[in-house]
Amino acid sequence: MRMRPRLLLAAALVGLAAAAAPRVKAQWIAPQEWLRFSVLTAAGPAEPPPAILRALRHVAWAQHRIVRGEWSAVNLARKYGTTKASLQATNHDELYIMPIGRRLTVLNKPGELYTVRRDGETLSRIALRFCPSGASRRAACEENLVLANDLPGAALLNDYEFSKGDRLLIPHFRVPRFDSFHFPLRGAIRITSGFGMRYHPLLHRRRFHDGFDIAKPYGTPVFPARSGRVIQTGWVEGYGMLIVIRHSDGWTTRYGHLSKIFVHPGQLVERGRTMIGRVGSTGLSTGPHLHFEVRDRHNRPINPGRMIGRG
Ligand SMILES: [Zn+2]
Repeated sequence: MRMRPRLLLAAALVGLAAAAAPRVKAQWIAPQEWLRFSVLTAAGPAEPPPAILRALRHVAWAQHRIVRGEWSAVNLARKYGTTKASLQATNHDELYIMPIGRRLTVLNKPGELYTVRRDGETLSRIALRFCPSGASRRAACEENLVLANDLPGAALLNDYEFSKGDRLLIPHFRVPRFDSFHFPLRGAIRITSGFGMRYHPLLHRRRFHDGFDIAKPYGTPVFPARSGRVIQTGWVEGYGMLIVIRHSDGWTTRYGHLSKIFVHPGQLVERGRTMIGRVGSTGLSTGPHLHFEVRDRHNRPINPGRMIGRG
């Protein structure tokens, strides 16, 4: 049995609003207008002021575009009334870096905002995914889902069906275990040469640059961008003193032009913790900097900027 007249009505209202005023500025929308936008409907036509979202008693979500100065996921989460872990889980992004212009889904309660994948997905099926095993524990968790999402109580008796794109708050979500790439150096990061074609300053010709050049003073400690196992250390033409680390999924990272190497092949190293070497200017280099590469399991160089912080 399908029981979703309330949802359909809400969706119709939002559809009308969106069609009539697709580019309404957030501040022109009266606070009570936002009451219409629940987790089960589309986000508002524009970004709601965080204070309004935070004040809502029911769950609501919106899209947020990161602007200059918003570098802390913790602060952003607090503004909307949620937690950093909730934003991480909802966006499948560690939010280790917050690039200006990236769009994030924000919500106003702690929890993961789950997007229903296909029409007819049922409450019990979602509970199977997110709730602990064991009949009584799952029943309690399912009840929690109904309460958190303001679903009718009957949803527990007749399995509730959702439509593709519906959003559901999962209050007791598993905090994702991110195994993503971080910058291999501490402190401010200044990339002096990015990934892609460039004019090589020493070879005097255009050449593909396989990674990032990060400027740091001679001797600055270098840490693994991701945990893994060292598979190669030593001198390599062009790279100078090089460390190669392999990660659990077969991807590798490379750290070149080092002045010192503290690890040996076979050694396990921990992201951000094991000091693997020091910045130098060995090999084909014009001054102290770290040459940092990310390679996929086929040994193809990947733009590190695309990988850093993404789970
Ligand atoms: Zn380089």
